[in-house]
Amino acid sequence: MSTRTVPTPQDLREAPKVLLHDHLDGGLRPSTVIDLADETGYGGLPTTDVGELSRWFVAAADSGSLETYLETFAHTCGVMQTEEALARVAAECVEDLADDGVVYAEVRYAPELFVERGLSLDAVVEAVQDGFERGRKNAAERGKQIRVGTLLCAMRQHARALEIAELTVRYRDQGVVGFDIAGPEAGYPPTRNLDAFEYIRTSNAHFTIHAGEAFGLASIWEAIQHCGAERLGHGVRIVDDITTGTDGAELGRLAAYVRDRRIPLELCPSSNVQTGAVGSIGEHPVGMLAKLRFRVTVNTDNRLMSDCTVSSEFAALVDAFGFDWADVRWCTINAMKSAFIGFDERLDIIDNVIKPWYAARV
Ligand SMILES: [Zn+2]
Repeated sequence: MSTRTVPTPQDLREAPKVLLHDHLDGGLRPSTVIDLADETGYGGLPTTDVGELSRWFVAAADSGSLETYLETFAHTCGVMQTEEALARVAAECVEDLADDGVVYAEVRYAPELFVERGLSLDAVVEAVQDGFERGRKNAAERGKQIRVGTLLCAMRQHARALEIAELTVRYRDQGVVGFDIAGPEAGYPPTRNLDAFEYIRTSNAHFTIHAGEAFGLASIWEAIQHCGAERLGHGVRIVDDITTGTDGAELGRLAAYVRDRRIPLELCPSSNVQTGAVGSIGEHPVGMLAKLRFRVTVNTDNRLMSDCTVSSEFAALVDAFGFDWADVRWCTINAMKSAFIGFDERLDIIDNVIKPWYAARV
């Protein structure tokens, strides 16, 4: 094979890949949503037909209406209110990612969304960790090796960020590798949660922030310069600080800082198209950001709502921007370098898993 070989969807599935931005409550199997609704007595689903439900999630997330979009998460979170349900969803998440060729993933969720039936935050985290371990073992039995790190999110509109930051540090030796804040950007600037970020930093722990998804540069600037975020969840609006002309691209001070400091961008192309932040994959800034050598990583965000996988996201970039194996490898190594696990472990996966596989193709 040569660099010119166009990666096919099947090859992309086999390629070792790294995923940094994936929501646990956005990645359930439609059949599992139905099973869990039945088992836990959740009566709110729009349909109990697997095919119809699967299409409903994508259409609802596609609708352009925030209300309908949020309804999709009301259903997934609605069926994840018991320890058994959380563990099952977590186990299947790991198995599905392993089947897609993901060798390292950071999966995130907000524990505070799963306490409606009385679970404690600690019980939620422990149930999910049990599920991740079960999924890892099941995948290993089928010959698929995957390592999963957990990110705990606090919701911007709630006021529990410090509590979740403390939970993150409390479980850092049990698989929780970092912290994040998620939820609506407009009206909830990341600086509202400075105490949480300071706690994480002074504990020598790691965090990323959802910033610059639909909201602009101010959100990215605050996340980096006021909060000290190590990575940007999406960060795609950094393009607003880049001017393109006939002489090429000119970077503003913030864009230059992000690129100079190698701050990882957790880009999620399909998700951005779905929420209307970007018109189509072909118009997505990922192509330009990759060309300008920002630290680009390619992610799924919500596999159920966007009906995507890491390999299908790469396949879309192959179609839209002519990504070749060198590009896929570059994004994969970028992501592994940017992971929140220790340096030794990252290097081990890069040297012993990623590089040997791509060596035959690049
Ligand atoms: Zn996200």
